[in-house]
Amino acid sequence: NKQLETREMGSTKAHALVLPFPVQGHINPMLQFSKRLASKGLKVTLVATTNSVQAPDNSIDIEYIPDGSDQTDQKKDAGLERFKSVASRVLPDLIEKLNGYGSCPVKLVVYDSILPWALDIAHELGLCGASFFTQSCAVSAIYYHMSHGSLEIGSLEGENVVLPSMPLMGVKDLPSFISDMDAYPALLRLVLDRFSNFEKADWLLFNSFDKLECEVVNWMASQWPTKTVGPTIPSMYLDKRLEDDKDYGLSLFKPGDEDCIKWLDTKESGSVVYVSFGSLANLGEDQMEELACGLKQSNRYFLWVVRASEESKLPTNFATEASEKGLVVNWCPQLKVLAHPAMGCFMTHCGWNSTLEALSLGVPMLAVPQWTDQPTNAKYVVDIWEAGVRVKVDEKGMIRREEIEMCIREVMEGERGNELKRNAVKWKEFAKEAVDEGGSSDKHIDEFISELVRR
Ligand code: UDP
Repeated sequence: NKQLETREMGSTKAHALVLPFPVQGHINPMLQFSKRLASKGLKVTLVATTNSVQAPDNSIDIEYIPDGSDQTDQKKDAGLERFKSVASRVLPDLIEKLNGYGSCPVKLVVYDSILPWALDIAHELGLCGASFFTQSCAVSAIYYHMSHGSLEIGSLEGENVVLPSMPLMGVKDLPSFISDMDAYPALLRLVLDRFSNFEKADWLLFNSFDKLECEVVNWMASQWPTKTVGPTIPSMYLDKRLEDDKDYGLSLFKPGDEDCIKWLDTKESGSVVYVSFGSLANLGEDQMEELACGLKQSNRYFLWVVRASEESKLPTNFATEASEKGLVVNWCPQLKVLAHPAMGCFMTHCGWNSTLEALSLGVPMLAVPQWTDQPTNAKYVVDIWEAGVRVKVDEKGMIRREEIEMCIREVMEGERGNELKRNAVKWKEFAKEAVDEGGSSDKHIDEFISELVRR
């Protein structure tokens, strides 16, 4: 069959080195993509950093390098520069070392699109380069327009932004690096920088799928070698074969223990609100309190991920006082949680992975976007995919407890709740279709491997 053919094609001929920027939201999709390539017969080596606390199974090889955090410049935006200085130095040596093993030399570097210098290194060494975008196609296209001067902000406050193949968007729906340009100039430069050489990349890979973003995918594919290859979620979650849960790994956080799954096991179907703001977002102490009170007032069961570094912002004794209704954990196996039958609603910051995971597992969302691409993802969740509602922020920039309580009800109750659930389940079916054998993303991966092997 076709898959076997691809596997045969890949098996002896190509070795891919995969290089994510070492933050959790970039590691997860690139690790899962690596595994998918390996399952089709490619040899894959993933570059990880020495601060990882958990390693994946052995379907791919891992090479550990320092992440540069031991260097002196600890400025907020400097992480990428530090990683660049370390990784760009070790990458050529690493490739040489891997090639020294003989059997299957490195032919391709799949690099995180925010590390455009990796393409230059790959090409200097005569290798192919594929840029892997860990954000949505829509967000990537917006950054492209910005980098090419076809999106001008400034005079646009209150107006709608018109971009090819995209819905009308308010300025506030754009990524925060654009709508609030003065806040993170270095990060804006960074996300735009990837377009400095992306036209030289041999492939542009996106963690998305055609049906989800069809218009903007078509627009991109008409001009660049674009391939959607997502959602990069282990298929056992899409198939609900949860007995084997060893399919994840490579975490920068201590893996959440099984207690929260046991806790979920005791809850009725569709009854729990899962709350997480991902691996980076920080809420203010006041906002944490409003959130805590809103959850309590909703009178729903809730599972809330509060990272260890954020824990001191919780109201005193909250976890103990709320323990009848809620469980607070520092980190959890999110896919397992979202795939659990008790899941009723995901209160999410709308990081791209979380958004895609919720859609792919049929969980309606309560969107609480914070920064970066999250406002744009929230816009799509509510207006395009119609699988969630978005909280309203008051004039002081706060989301009040009453608003949180009301939105939880909207997602979990009545006809509106049913409609959001139906839509989420529809996206889940489309996601599974895309990655199943012969689906759009599966086909793109097969094509990508055949094209690579032929080069
Ligand atoms: N995640 C997890 N456990 C948690 C919280 C998050 O495994 O308790 C995972 C989640 O499944 C997702 C990633 O961490 O794959 C977060 O990426 P996302 O793009 O949603 O947000 P970011 O952390 O980049 O803001």
